[in-house]
Amino acid sequence: MTKDWKTRTQLVHEGTRRSQYGEMAEAIFLTQGFVYPTAEAAEERFIKAGEDEFIYARYGNPTTRMFEERIAALEGTDDAFATASGMAAVSGALMSLVRAGDHVVSARALFGSCLYVLEEVLQKFGVRVTFVDGADLDQWRAAVTPGTKAVFFESMSNPTLELVDIRGVSEIAHKAGALVICDNVFATPIFSRAVEQGADVVVYSTTKHIDGQGRALGGVVCGTKEFVRKTLEPYMKHTGGSMSPFTAWMHLNGMATLDLRCRAMAASALRIAEVLSGWSQVGRVIYPGLAVHPQHDLAMTQMGSGGTIVTFDVAGGKEAAFRFMNALGIVKISNNLGDAKTIATHPATTTHQRLPQEQKDALGITPGLIRLSVGLEDVDDLIADLGQALGRN
Ligand SMILES: *Cc1c(COP(=O)(O)O)cnc(C)c1O
Repeated sequence: MTKDWKTRTQLVHEGTRRSQYGEMAEAIFLTQGFVYPTAEAAEERFIKAGEDEFIYARYGNPTTRMFEERIAALEGTDDAFATASGMAAVSGALMSLVRAGDHVVSARALFGSCLYVLEEVLQKFGVRVTFVDGADLDQWRAAVTPGTKAVFFESMSNPTLELVDIRGVSEIAHKAGALVICDNVFATPIFSRAVEQGADVVVYSTTKHIDGQGRALGGVVCGTKEFVRKTLEPYMKHTGGSMSPFTAWMHLNGMATLDLRCRAMAASALRIAEVLSGWSQVGRVIYPGLAVHPQHDLAMTQMGSGGTIVTFDVAGGKEAAFRFMNALGIVKISNNLGDAKTIATHPATTTHQRLPQEQKDALGITPGLIRLSVGLEDVDDLIADLGQALGRN
């Protein structure tokens, strides 16, 4: 049933299934299996499971199904499949689609594990992968050929927040008959219109903003019913990367506040980016919501926001960056993002440590670079904490 609900209503109500008890809150069905009234009913269900019929939690579960329906409605896709982590979603979307001999084109600036899947796993199984500078449409045009099966990119890259023009890349890919797979984590499903802008498949690490409190690993693949149920589901359900019902239940609870949280975080991120830009202890500030950002116009048309992450250089390199991090009080040192708690990460020595120096240089991962995932604390407290840690008082 297609309803005319707006985002916040979807986030509270979409996909809810109630048992015969009429419970108000989404129920958690902590069951791996389901009882059939008769042998004939079991046989029937294995031939074709109905809308409200389940077989085994690796295939689906009522709580997981509620989460899938809610996120699909939010994303504007027909369907979704919930996975055990963001990487199960990324690897599942790619591995279920390609076969040996296929060609994939991918943006070069990727989350480390995504890079591993494209560079190591796919190529090991005979899939050719061409890497391009994601922000340069000419490179996409040159790399995508009529034989290209899929293109892959993060709509906003980690940690330097470079945007990929979803509409532009999708046009190039579709002309060649390639499927567009977009990892939309940094853009969040709130600021994202990836499918509207041409993406065919959207993947999330739900570990980030969707859980929003750093509690659970999870992921999801959103797409057409055809892709999700015919291509992806057989692969996921037989290889074992399905989401736990407990995680789905936590995500359902988290989603009620997703719109409010993302907007509050993005408002604070903009304020912080503006303030940092005026401080002498800070070099370059990267935030697409700032008018000076080279992709500001694209960020506004694609996301309507600069997002919830601010990246900046502490003047003085690694030593100064470490001194700053060690002096932080409210802001925590960690590597998650999208959390209610503000988190500072030093990409060069943690998330991107394994990259060779020339690749770090090419991606702009400098020794003084800090990635700040802005949380839900009072923004004035955050600014005071950042200021004191930079030795401004
Ligand atoms: C975190 C992240 C992933 C992986 O998600 P997990 O839930 O940690 O498996 C993939 N892509 C991006 C852009 C991410 O930030």
